[in-house]
Amino acid sequence: MSERDAAAQHVRWYAQIPRFECIEGCTDCCGPVPWSAYELEQAQLAQPPVARPDNVCEFSLAGRCQIHAVRPLMCRLFGAVEDLRCPHGRGPLELLPVDAGHDIVRRYKIANRME
Ligand code: SF4
Ligand code: SF4
Repeated sequence: MSERDAAAQHVRWYAQIPRFECIEGCTDCCGPVPWSAYELEQAQLAQPPVARPDNVCEFSLAGRCQIHAVRPLMCRLFGAVEDLRCPHGRGPLELLPVDAGHDIVRRYKIANRME
């Protein structure tokens, strides 16, 4: 797949995920997540970040995601899908239905050969 096609795919997937505001300074759902090759490139990483001993993502610093604008798909889904609810009750007005969330993940994994 060309970089242009990968970019277009990722933009389409991201656009289907409703946005919402997190609690200022909260990164409580930040653990290890899958990264596609495109997402690694966007974050200028050679390989996925290594989880710290507390299992928290290394980009979670001082209660903020240090790469928020280029965070990967799973980070965007958390809190936005009916079966990935924020433990603090944050989320969009309308959560993405379970089937729609799973369908995005399925297509993401197939396209990125994660299955
Ligand atoms: S979704 Fe919820 S738990 Fe995750 S960072 Fe946002 S406010 Fe915190
Ligand atoms: S990339 Fe950012 S949003 Fe995703 S787990 Fe790491 S700190 Fe959290």
